[in-house]
Amino acid sequence: MSGKGRIRQTLAVSAVLVAALFLLPLVSAVSFHWERKTPPDAPREEAEPFVSGVRDGAETLRVLKGDTVEEMDLGTYLVGVVRAEMPASFEPEALKAQAVAARTYTLYQLRSGGRHGDTADICTDPTCCQAYQEEAAARQGWGDAADEYEQKIESAVRDTDGEVILYDDAPILAVFHSASAGLTRPAGKVWSGDLPYLQAVASPEEGDAIPNYYSRTEFSLEEVRSRVLSALPEADLSGDAAEWLQNDVRDAAGSIETVEVGGVAVRGSRLRSILGLRSACFTWEVGEDTLIFFVTGYGHGVGMSQYGAQQMAREGSSYREILTHYYTGVTLGPWEGDGAE
Ligand SMILES: [Zn+2]
Repeated sequence: MSGKGRIRQTLAVSAVLVAALFLLPLVSAVSFHWERKTPPDAPREEAEPFVSGVRDGAETLRVLKGDTVEEMDLGTYLVGVVRAEMPASFEPEALKAQAVAARTYTLYQLRSGGRHGDTADICTDPTCCQAYQEEAAARQGWGDAADEYEQKIESAVRDTDGEVILYDDAPILAVFHSASAGLTRPAGKVWSGDLPYLQAVASPEEGDAIPNYYSRTEFSLEEVRSRVLSALPEADLSGDAAEWLQNDVRDAAGSIETVEVGGVAVRGSRLRSILGLRSACFTWEVGEDTLIFFVTGYGHGVGMSQYGAQQMAREGSSYREILTHYYTGVTLGPWEGDGAE
């Protein structure tokens, strides 16, 4: 072998050695990955811990559960919220829309200081912040579908890791409700202030397929009188019950914007809460010593309708299409944190 040949051989051996140096870790990583991968038909190990996405995993939240504050990462919290806030049987794209809305709502609360001061960032009371459900409780309710449903919800959170709904580059107040009356409601008609991204938009939920979409609530006249007078002491309910509620102003879907109750003008949303009706889209009938309300939909009607999102997903819309439909003029993007301001 000539000198040149020996050098070439040495170079070739070195090249193999160098290549091996770089490739070996790769090979072992790949085989490690293969070993870890669960075969498609194998039953999923129960209580396999949820691994949050990179962005959600980096955000730690103080979550108030009853009297105790628990720290957890944003992804883990969101899985608990989606379990509680949307039926797990819903389409994957609807669940993703729910995950992004819940993430956005949470980050909005964080940025604005939230409702719990120094105690916590957010709570698990659905009437205050967002509902939250632990995995064990959810699994009990889901029965045989528990593995499938838990996976769907975890995927919805992980597949949208860090993604939020933005208006003017900031996370929006991403409120949502169960089912609209076919049209969502502008925030300003329900609460004190208007928000540019919470406007009325058409919502495609199909009432006949939704449990209790049309509900009927009957009160004795005495009960209506007592509920109304404790909230609106200036109301005059001394006359004929047929004249207690008058001059209702409605939107195109029939939700009440304002109505006079015993001569006092209130918002439909206010009367809804006084009487505990499922929505502010209702009509009434005076019966024999009773007042009967016929209600359409469920919830305040502002922002994303969950059953509307489900219908859009069924018809092929992506979660991004669902969200940009329900929240007017928004964009979707990664949460950059306060430092990006
Ligand atoms: Zn709260």
